[in-house]
Amino acid sequence: MAFPQSSTVHRKDLEEVAEIPSPGCRADLPLEAAPAEPLAAPRLRSILSAETVGLAKNFSGPDDLRLRDGHGRALTDLRLSVTDRCNYRCVYCRTGSEGAQFTELPIDSYLRMVRVFVSLGVEKVRLTGGEPLLRHGLLDLIREIARLRPAFSSAPLDIAITSNGHLLAAMAKDLKRAGLNRITVSMDAVDAETFSRITRIPKSFERVRDGIRAAQDAGLGTVKVNCVLLRGFNDSQIEAFAEFSRREQVIVRFIEFMPLEEGRSWSREMVVPMREILTRLSAVRPLVALPANHASETARRFTFDDGLGEIGIIAPVSEAFCGHCSRVRITSDGKLRTCLFSQSDHDLIGLMLRGATDDEMISWIRRVVQWKEARHHIGEPGFLKPSRSMVHIGG
Ligand code: SAM
Repeated sequence: MAFPQSSTVHRKDLEEVAEIPSPGCRADLPLEAAPAEPLAAPRLRSILSAETVGLAKNFSGPDDLRLRDGHGRALTDLRLSVTDRCNYRCVYCRTGSEGAQFTELPIDSYLRMVRVFVSLGVEKVRLTGGEPLLRHGLLDLIREIARLRPAFSSAPLDIAITSNGHLLAAMAKDLKRAGLNRITVSMDAVDAETFSRITRIPKSFERVRDGIRAAQDAGLGTVKVNCVLLRGFNDSQIEAFAEFSRREQVIVRFIEFMPLEEGRSWSREMVVPMREILTRLSAVRPLVALPANHASETARRFTFDDGLGEIGIIAPVSEAFCGHCSRVRITSDGKLRTCLFSQSDHDLIGLMLRGATDDEMISWIRRVVQWKEARHHIGEPGFLKPSRSMVHIGG
């Protein structure tokens, strides 16, 4: 399979940076289902009763103050990109000739955004990029985030990171000490040569494998290893990944390829669907389904009949899970995105730079998320590719 090496069309100038949701975002909602005016919530912590803010009659307790979109989904999961730079140029993600396209914000600005979202009910913060381990100040950011407490839950804030693992061996202990709970490492082959062909970086497999082991040793939970499968490129690795999960005691998660690449090379034929992955894995050993950890979990979980190894399958293309989406994203340049496939993003940093108070940020965020897309439309007629690719959103 050939991946185009040529430069891609710059879509930056097509992006709409809007303070109110754009018509593009609203198209998902039927007119009659247009969301009600957002809650007039001047200061979250000062809202103690339904009467004080004139909430709807069916107010059922403090949980109603959680950040919710226009479809009633609670938004508890924040993905924050802390850099647009990456030290890998994975063939299915990047053209290989493009560099970073968007700026980075000072660590303090990210921290303020996270703090406001946590006050709105975010319970899980995932740091991503680009490659987050490249970001100067990352440990300080984690340390500060780790001091925050979820507004509507007694459980501690869950802080995770998604990384390519290249710098992980040297950083794992410091990440743990700073307060990181968990790490997901992206790894698209367990065969070293295939891995280097994908990342375009020599000897990258050994670095990432050592990073995974260092993360396990540092106590960063059971490491999750994410593998995007591409037909004819790395789908020969499915069985070897099953062995890798059992041998290294990691959770391997296969992810269907989505149309989010810089080079715009996606086609449905390249996607290896969940059913096919399950058939292949069952031939290794009989699979046993595991219960979901929570309703918005993206992966369907399995182990083998002897209980050794864990496999997750994330199937956004063949079995979309948008109905339970609890995610909201902030890009490295401070734009709020309500969906990976959004046609526009929303200028949160612009609002902050104009001097918005936390209360004003809260009201604005509540308004924007009312128009969170109901679902993506991958593979449907009229599907529009999103305004940014995965590496420039933060996966
Ligand atoms: N650099 C970090 C890493 O490699 O994990 C974080 C950013 S990377 C964009 C996040 C994840 O997105 C990786 O697991 C990558 O495999 C995945 N990804 C990139 N392009 C994708 C696509 N078109 N479809 C599905 N997953 C994709």
